[in-house]
Amino acid sequence: MSEVLSCRDLGRVYREGELDVSVLSGINLTVQAGERLAIVGASGSGKSTLLHLLGGLDKPSSGDVQLMGQAIGTLSERKLGELRNRSLGFVYQFHHLLPEFSALENVMMPLLIRRLPRQQAAAEAQAMLARVGLAARVQHKPGELSGGERQRAAMARALVTNPACLLADEPTGNLDRGNAQAVFELMLELNQTLGTSLVIVTHDHELAAKTGRVLTLTPAGLSAAANVA
Ligand code: ADP
Ligand code: MG
Repeated sequence: MSEVLSCRDLGRVYREGELDVSVLSGINLTVQAGERLAIVGASGSGKSTLLHLLGGLDKPSSGDVQLMGQAIGTLSERKLGELRNRSLGFVYQFHHLLPEFSALENVMMPLLIRRLPRQQAAAEAQAMLARVGLAARVQHKPGELSGGERQRAAMARALVTNPACLLADEPTGNLDRGNAQAVFELMLELNQTLGTSLVIVTHDHELAAKTGRVLTLTPAGLSAAANVA
């Protein structure tokens, strides 16, 4: 297996007035191609901060992140942006779909940004929406979709560029139990069929266990959860 994403001795300190507050320190993690893992931890333990650092959306105070074999701290903003767009997909607790556009247009957006011809972008977006179970909803705007459908559309948007790794920050945190389970199962299925690595932050230990590799974030660092076989 090849390595998609890793970090070494990663730390993040926030400056709050006169105080330096250490949120993360000494974090080591490697994500292999096609691998899936969940990160759990108390609210405020730094899970979102860690995903931001791994995704190159924030800069570490110490340590470094390697994405597709490149140390991202050494890249220019433009190169980092390109590498991020090519290799990563992001899903958040709230869908962040653009309300005035249809599901199809929302999912086409990352492809249009890549300057794909409109027809090809539409065809690929349509196919990805079908994969997430929204073939009959492509013309709906986000406000006309249910919560679970909106998260599926957000997932289609994140995956339509065929990223090596999906970083998902509490992707089911805003859904009821049934929809949370269905959306989580869908992510696992897409991991199998598309080969996309998954790093999923979740509060939900039961869902986390379905990934097969659960890491717990505590002030002591990132460690394998004891209760997972
Ligand atoms: P989690 O996602 O696990 O709930 P976060 O990564 O959002 O945790 O936050 C971890 C800690 O870092 C919290 O104490 C939070 O208040 C603090 N924090 C997060 N972002 C910032 C920021 N931009 N400036 C200062 N402190 C921050
Ligand atoms: Mg968070």
